[in-house]
Amino acid sequence: MPELPEVETTRRLIEPQLTGARVLRVEHAHPERYLRTAAIEGRTVSELARRGKYILVRFHEREPALELIVHLGMTGGFRPQGGPHTRVTLHTDRGPLFFNDARRFGKWLVVPEGDYRELPTLAAMGPEPLSDDFSLAEFVRAARSAGAVKPWLLSQKPVAGLGNIYADEALWRAGIHPETRGLDEAQATRLHAAIREVLARAVEVGGSTLSDNTYQQPDGKPGYFQLEHSVYARERQPCPRCGTEIRKYWLAQRGTHYCPTCQAAP
Ligand SMILES: [Zn+2]
Repeated sequence: MPELPEVETTRRLIEPQLTGARVLRVEHAHPERYLRTAAIEGRTVSELARRGKYILVRFHEREPALELIVHLGMTGGFRPQGGPHTRVTLHTDRGPLFFNDARRFGKWLVVPEGDYRELPTLAAMGPEPLSDDFSLAEFVRAARSAGAVKPWLLSQKPVAGLGNIYADEALWRAGIHPETRGLDEAQATRLHAAIREVLARAVEVGGSTLSDNTYQQPDGKPGYFQLEHSVYARERQPCPRCGTEIRKYWLAQRGTHYCPTCQAAP
């Protein structure tokens, strides 16, 4: 499932084609999954932004300012060519861009800019981890009274964009067990740094392409961060730091990978 690095990689690669382009027509057969897309026909893209795992295509060249929100779901991605899994074709004055999505969990909707009432996760989303808004003091304060740390990270409230892969990687890097509650200041400080380091590096190398191969960059290349995973999908392999076998178990319905030595149980 695409997380912040995969979504940011996607945003960067489609940005040159879309910024300043005029949308001619949005073609799809599922008005219940791709909502109100007719509203952006005839409009010109002002900018492409991102919050967490959402791509935000903004149209504020004239009133009313609109925003197309795209969530990639499990397998959604933009491609220069159509195929058997093309669900939406965005026709623009610079040519078409195709949205392919084998498992159909992706979602598009057009809203007045900044109106996220239909998307409670987006409305309540915490700060962007790679921006100055991700304050260490605030993170330390919130972590002190938080429940089990991994589900807390996945809630998107303390910080935006972390899913299963990068939560496991950041917790390993910080040496914190996924079920630790109420982090002390030293733990929270390490975790804050680890989140930024893991995500910045993953964005730099284009995200993670897993063995199911569903995520690709829009130019068809894979991401490369999976080659640098320390724990994710490495169960029974040695921890890169201490050599102990990485374990996998289920926590809050998510496959969770950790090193029992580096991340001692709380
Ligand atoms: Zn270890």
